[in-house]
Amino acid sequence: AELPADTDETNEVRQVKDALFSYVNPTKPSNPELIHASEEVAKLVGISVDEIQSESFLNVFSGKEILEGTRPYAMCYAGHQFGNWAGQLGDGRAINLTEVEHNNDFFTLQLKGAGKTPYSRTADGLAVLRSSIREHLCAEAMHYLGVPTTRSLSLMLSGDQVLRDVLYNGNPAYEKGAIVARVAPSFIRFGSFEMLTARNELKNLKQFVEFNIKYYFSEIKGEPKEQYLQFFQKVADTTREMILHWQRVGFVHGVMNTDNMSIHGITIDYGPYGWLENYDPNWTPNTTDSQNRRYRFGNQPKIAQWNLYQLANALYPLVNEAAPLEKILESFIDKFDKDYKLMMLNKLGLFTSTKSDGSIIAGLEAILQLSETDMTIFFRNLSKIKKSDSVESALEIIKDAFYIPEEITGEILEAWTKWFAIYMERLKTEDLSDESRSTKMNLVNPKYVLRNYMAQLAIDAADKGDYSLVNELYLLLQKPYDEQPEFEKWFAKRPDWARSKVGCSM
Ligand code: AMP
Ligand code: MG
Ligand code: MG
Repeated sequence: AELPADTDETNEVRQVKDALFSYVNPTKPSNPELIHASEEVAKLVGISVDEIQSESFLNVFSGKEILEGTRPYAMCYAGHQFGNWAGQLGDGRAINLTEVEHNNDFFTLQLKGAGKTPYSRTADGLAVLRSSIREHLCAEAMHYLGVPTTRSLSLMLSGDQVLRDVLYNGNPAYEKGAIVARVAPSFIRFGSFEMLTARNELKNLKQFVEFNIKYYFSEIKGEPKEQYLQFFQKVADTTREMILHWQRVGFVHGVMNTDNMSIHGITIDYGPYGWLENYDPNWTPNTTDSQNRRYRFGNQPKIAQWNLYQLANALYPLVNEAAPLEKILESFIDKFDKDYKLMMLNKLGLFTSTKSDGSIIAGLEAILQLSETDMTIFFRNLSKIKKSDSVESALEIIKDAFYIPEEITGEILEAWTKWFAIYMERLKTEDLSDESRSTKMNLVNPKYVLRNYMAQLAIDAADKGDYSLVNELYLLLQKPYDEQPEFEKWFAKRPDWARSKVGCSM
């Protein structure tokens, strides 16, 4: 209510000037059905476990019914897509239901896939089961991995059919429509600020930045200009920490457009994301980016900085001085590199630091690419190595990570042998016992991540009405760092059939 609103209350597609959001109602689903809900997220926002099974939960989080005393809205934002200015984008298929306060925390509840808004452009405002399962499972998996993220409260079928593709023979390919209820402090993006500056709505910009500081960054104090800079610094810091986690667990977002960057430094908008299987910094799960590979794994830190650059430009009219913004931007990569080095050392079980550590990391990154090597399995198995092991037995311990074991001969074997010789010497200088080191390593090297083929198996079964795999993966991914003998089959390399499969975006 404190921010300028567009009160037309139609979902007609349009440019929405001088407003940060538009009041709009969700489209009523014809026959909603709950597939899965996260009890933990429910409790987080003040919903009891019993209430999850209620008619009103089903109706509210499918968009069928509007909670009394609330007024749903879609947000207006702009953004840079694949490096190009895209103008107004806004919530084309997301509708905020309301904000809630619970245990002194504030949450925004949002439906994704609940129909058209003024920002839907040429699309339908809907989401399909496939992408909704991917968002629901991955958002929660990321949370339990310790990666800052939006949460997912529930996954529902709408009961409606959604057209996503036309087959080669001209027949329409319908898919089941679905709705995810997402939870975050807010869904405000870098692009929310870019829009105001691009339109020269500077009064709104100031009001909006101050609104953000007041509600989400209340620790920020001082003169106005000082506050704006602290705000930017804070967004830069949390963004950097988020990317560091992505690199740690091998997550590739796939669409790091500025409209997909949260000001809270949380992972948002799960589309064609993917997980590194064989370690490859050039890999992207996004087929539409396979030429430039702008959003490839190894480029994520630089892209985050580029996106922050756009946010800095958006804030510039308030600060009116480039130097302090530039200083924050310039320190971004330095700070990232420092943190990255420590993070990688921890993954390697090296908790004291020495001069040669940079070369151990760089050396490993190079040989991991000589022959396809599974990132998750490699780091997880590394913790089983003992200081007293020979280089040969160390290699034996990680050999499950190789996709093509026949390739580990000749120069490749030599490179691995050399690296392990250095690593084993280095391990001996660590104070921790093998057991304590292993325990610590297993807290940063997950055993279970949501590999694309796993999500795909859950999707295929769910499409036939069998949700047991959605449930199983949800349980598995709640404890990604634990040994879970009953789920050991998910600690495995991607099967051959899933080799060239990529994430999906719609
Ligand atoms: P994304 O690539 O998912 O981040 O979306 C980019 C923009 O397109 C955002 O404004 C989305 O809200 C919008 N969008 C994506 N899919 C749809 C859809 N099916 N209907 C309407 N808008 C959409
Ligand atoms: Mg988006
Ligand atoms: Mg999308």
